[in-house]
Amino acid sequence: MDDVYCETTAPGPATEDAGPPYAECVLCRKPTEHPESTKGSTLCPVCAWQEAGRTACSG
Ligand SMILES: [Zn+2]
Repeated sequence: MDDVYCETTAPGPATEDAGPPYAECVLCRKPTEHPESTKGSTLCPVCAWQEAGRTACSG
C-alpha cells in the first residue's frame, strides 16, 4: 500500500523576539499589548479590566 503525504515545507525557526515596542501602561508602567504608536492612554490587560469593572459599576 502507498501512503502519500503532502510534503509541507516547515517554516524556519520561529523567532520569539519582542517585536515592535509596546506602549507602557499609564497606570502600572507594564508593557501593554498595544504598540507604542497607539494614541491616547494605553492600559495593560489587568488595568484595562479593572477600569472596565469600575466604569461598569458606576451609577
Ligand atoms: Zn497596568
